[in-house]
Amino acid sequence: MGYVHSFESFGTVDGPGIRFVVFLQGCPMRCLYCHNPDTWTERAGKSYTAEEVAANALKYKSYFTGGGGVTVSGGEPMLQTEFVTEIFSILKKNDVHTALDTSGIMYGRIEKQKLDALLDVTDLVLLDIKHIDDERHRELTRHSNKGILQFAKYLSDVGKDVWIRHVLVPGITDDDVYLNRLAQFLSGLKNVKKVEVLPYHTMGEVKYAKLGIDYPLKGVMPPEKERVIKTY
Ligand code: SF4
Repeated sequence: MGYVHSFESFGTVDGPGIRFVVFLQGCPMRCLYCHNPDTWTERAGKSYTAEEVAANALKYKSYFTGGGGVTVSGGEPMLQTEFVTEIFSILKKNDVHTALDTSGIMYGRIEKQKLDALLDVTDLVLLDIKHIDDERHRELTRHSNKGILQFAKYLSDVGKDVWIRHVLVPGITDDDVYLNRLAQFLSGLKNVKKVEVLPYHTMGEVKYAKLGIDYPLKGVMPPEKERVIKTY
């Protein structure tokens, strides 16, 4: 059984093509710009078996055009590594493309054997690098980025396809010095198929109000479109 926050039947922003997206519960990070604070609690949401989740996704298989398939996101999906492995194993038997949307924070915290079993049935990793500078990363997420950067290198070493995602937040990540450092780091990886610069947005603010949590980035505005394009 795994803890699921929600499903999205026609996702177009979490991997290639049209995708069924599974959002899992639980995340150890506390990113200041998180727009899904309702996924943070581990044992919440609704519990499903891997078979139930896969069967739900497979109902939409005929819509998975343009290289589409299924993305498992969160929260942090690698908190439930074995559950995701089971879902992806069923999907691979049905020739469905699988993508794992992760912060990489669990690297080094789960057994290598379990990690490799998951990667065996994962076609693409969407790896979110929150900040290239360790100190700024800690301020932004309450965690070091060391394991995450090691995970990026590991994925490069094993030749797993990766899309890198980076959220551009004015005053936090939108800084040419850090962006150049990130670009330099990425240039050392052999497996990066795409880099997505995602503009920070304030759509999650309403969820904080509902949960009774102070919104940490109050007053921070999304970046200008031109700035996002230039960075990209
Ligand atoms: S890793 Fe994702 S879900 Fe977790 S706090 Fe950060 S943005 Fe939110």
